Amino acid sequence: MSAKIIDGKKVSEITMDLIRDDVEKWVGAGNRRPFLKVVQVGTDPASTTYIGAKTRACKRVGIDTDTTHLSDTVSAKELKSTIRSFNNDDSIDGILVQLPLPLHLSSHDVIESIDHKKDVDGFHPMNVGRLTVDQPTFKSCTPAGIFELFRYYSIPVKSKHAVVVGASNIVGSPMATMLSRENSEGKATTTICHKYTKDLTQHTIGADILVVAAGQPNLIKAEMVKEGAVIIDVGINRIADETTEKGYKLVGDCDFNGLKNKASWITPVPGGVGPMTVAMLMKNTLLAAKKSIYPEE
Ligand code: NDP
Repeated sequence: MSAKIIDGKKVSEITMDLIRDDVEKWVGAGNRRPFLKVVQVGTDPASTTYIGAKTRACKRVGIDTDTTHLSDTVSAKELKSTIRSFNNDDSIDGILVQLPLPLHLSSHDVIESIDHKKDVDGFHPMNVGRLTVDQPTFKSCTPAGIFELFRYYSIPVKSKHAVVVGASNIVGSPMATMLSRENSEGKATTTICHKYTKDLTQHTIGADILVVAAGQPNLIKAEMVKEGAVIIDVGINRIADETTEKGYKLVGDCDFNGLKNKASWITPVPGGVGPMTVAMLMKNTLLAAKKSIYPEE
């Protein structure tokens, strides 16, 4: 079997065109242009790259944005006080603190200091909680982007056996929640695997849909999946490659070349899930500006 490629780049372009039209309608109706505030602590190069992609996406869809840069020695008190000032600023619709944070800062603590009504990443416990009970919420962008791909390619989820490898708060756990919920999108029988899972293959081999978000290059090989599985590779890993200008290349968590002859559908890395994550951030920012999730009383 030769897998069909899930083209996240293409679907994200289509999605962002729709968002741009919506933004222009919103502004055309006399509303302020949506505004996304990004906070970067320190100068981690990968974070700078991700923020660059988000800033370009904002420009593309007509959302205003800027980034506040703080030193990597900033105290928790100072950082949270900065976030509070953004919470109280009516000209800011969405707030995103780029992760990871330096080790002396607790990401839980910092995320909780963001007003959940402006938490466009969907990481605040209020939004995570609402996701688990099917209430309107800012959905974590990566799982939300994967569901857009399922919709675009008419990949069925209901009654399938979905296996999620990786249980992080930002990808694996919300993905498993969304797959397993008994709403119109989910209804899959869902297994979550993590580092302590014994015999990973025993679980992955039964997956109709396999979502891998472990940050481990080459973790999933062809012999670990069944013929015809849908493979969603979330991983983004930099591995050394002297043949490239930058000295590295990006690979996922799955052995794409081995799997492409066994899967029915597969996401490439790059160009699969990543662009959809950014598109969903744009969607959440527009939802925040419109106060669609949390209407004003
Ligand atoms: P985390 O490191 O927070 O979580 C990784 C998860 O994978 C943890 O649950 C970990 O288990 C589990 N894990 C690690 N090694 C194994 C293993 N050998 N077998 C099974 N499970 C394992 O990462 P994130 O969720 O933030 O990100 C995962 C990957 O996805 C990264 O490569 C990241 O760069 C990428 N990413 C991509 C995005 C995109 O838009 N494409 C967006 C966000 C992330 P334990 O907790 O027990 O250690």
